[in-house]
Amino acid sequence: MPDTSRSEHQSAAVPPAHRPLAGRVAVVTGSTSGIGLAILERLAGAGASVVMNGLGDPGIIEAELDRIRRDHDIAAAYVAADLTDAKACADLIATAAERLGRVDILVNNAGIQHVAPVESFPPEKWDAIVALNLSAAFHTIRASFGAMKARGWGRVINIASAHGLVASPYKSAYVAAKHGIIGLTKTVALEGAECGVTANAICPGYVWTPLVERQIEDQARAHAIPRERVVKEILLAKQPTKAFAEAGEVGALAVFLASDAARSITGTALPVDGGWTAQ
Ligand code: NAD
Repeated sequence: MPDTSRSEHQSAAVPPAHRPLAGRVAVVTGSTSGIGLAILERLAGAGASVVMNGLGDPGIIEAELDRIRRDHDIAAAYVAADLTDAKACADLIATAAERLGRVDILVNNAGIQHVAPVESFPPEKWDAIVALNLSAAFHTIRASFGAMKARGWGRVINIASAHGLVASPYKSAYVAAKHGIIGLTKTVALEGAECGVTANAICPGYVWTPLVERQIEDQARAHAIPRERVVKEILLAKQPTKAFAEAGEVGALAVFLASDAARSITGTALPVDGGWTAQ
């Protein structure tokens, strides 16, 4: 008979249903904008203290953090690390732990895109995309995983993409990095499995954010067509719902994956893509 008693990895006290992450500390990379900001806000809404990271105007970022602290009654800090640099990734985790006590939930979300045919894809864009979209996640996981395992509880959530599961033309670096982060997710899921640490990837389809807005212009150039045709014939053509997903939907899934209810979900790549990868 399997042992069905409460395991050492479960917390003894069940948190209130509306604040399932009360007492947890979350770092969300690239959370000054788009999907990362929505994830940060949802985690804060679920009671987690949060560390924001990403580029942007310091005044706007501080005002946003103040609002999040007030709205959700949690502690929040900002760490401005450029995550294309390995040392900055490790420093982000160290600074987050120093300021908020520890890191229980790590969301690797920061990402960039560049769209061009492979034969003219700039090598420096390849390097930057692989550094931020893949290597940064390795460096932040490396810096936080040991402490999660030692405490017997942790959550790694990597924001991959439908492009982690399938490819599209002109996105060689992005597709390679996103496939890579799913492999990284599976590996660390196995390494954390006996220690109460889960690792999962979320694979959004098209979500309307500044990253997609910039891509429309690039795609228009690559395909030599106007932007309205890019949205209809290239972006949403792949998405059977014919609608952009909302950043908050990705945030809601991140909250669930971070909760105790998801402790047996690990090593997965979960699409939020309106049916794109069902095809
Ligand atoms: P976005 O451009 O709105 O946000 C990107 C975030 O990353 C920003 O906070 C930015 O400041 C930060 N960032 C950029 N360079 C950085 C650096 N060097 N160091 C630290 N932070 C840096 O983009 P988004 O659409 O919200 O994308 C977020 C994630 O979701 C990315 O990993 C992206 O690949 C993924 N994704 C997006 C979509 C979509 O349709 N928008 C679909 C699938 C996956």
